[in-house]
Amino acid sequence: MTKYEPYMQALLWTCKHCGFVYEGGQPKQNCPICESYKTSFIDIPQHIEAEVRETHPDKSFNHADCRELRKKLMDEHNVYSSNRVAGRVLPSASGTNIKPS
Ligand SMILES: [Zn+2]
Repeated sequence: MTKYEPYMQALLWTCKHCGFVYEGGQPKQNCPICESYKTSFIDIPQHIEAEVRETHPDKSFNHADCRELRKKLMDEHNVYSSNRVAGRVLPSASGTNIKPS
């Protein structure tokens, strides 16, 4: 058991515009921070989230500082260029299921 367990297991849907994290299932609504459409959420790599939470252990994971760092790391790791780098992209409204591989 590691200190990351609570979120290592979870999908981390993250708004690629502002860094807001929606834990659990797929976002069902637009981003509450920047109001980007829900397809702006991507599933970021766990090591990015680990670094964010290690850097700001005393802050909420959606604190402005955390979101800022998350955006910076997403940029450094090039997770924006959606199709297949590190992050997955929210499937379209067709109802396609995600199959983790
Ligand atoms: Zn957002």
